[in-house]
Amino acid sequence: MTCLFCRIIAGETPAAKVYEDDQVIAFNDINPQAPMHVLVVPKRHIATLNDLSHADDGLVGAMVRAGAKVAKEQGHDGPGFRSVFNCNAQAGQTVFHIHLHVLGGRVLTWPPG
Ligand code: AMP
Ligand code: ZN
Repeated sequence: MTCLFCRIIAGETPAAKVYEDDQVIAFNDINPQAPMHVLVVPKRHIATLNDLSHADDGLVGAMVRAGAKVAKEQGHDGPGFRSVFNCNAQAGQTVFHIHLHVLGGRVLTWPPG
């Protein structure tokens, strides 16, 4: 299995899991950019946002809600948090299995770099 996040989902590569349900898993980013930096990942391999279909709308909703749930559990719902998908090279995507970054715990500037 060559995809890093598929290996994490299969339990072959360790990760600090913070949430899991039948559709998604969430774990701490190995190189955190904020005090909370969680990645929410669908259990089914989808390479980029360009590969989503209408049938995936519920899955994407589940990802967003899972990120919000983790942010709330860690006390970031009130102060605020950011949820970001990077798509392809120019946006900085390095792992080609879609993932929602969920960042919180510090002031996040806008526009992003
Ligand atoms: P992106 O650049 O949007 O594709 O995000 C990929 C993210 O995966 C980066 O923030 C990396 O720090 C993170 N990452 C890479 N390898 C691991 C790993 N083994 N466990 C957790 N996060 C990872
Ligand atoms: Zn994968």
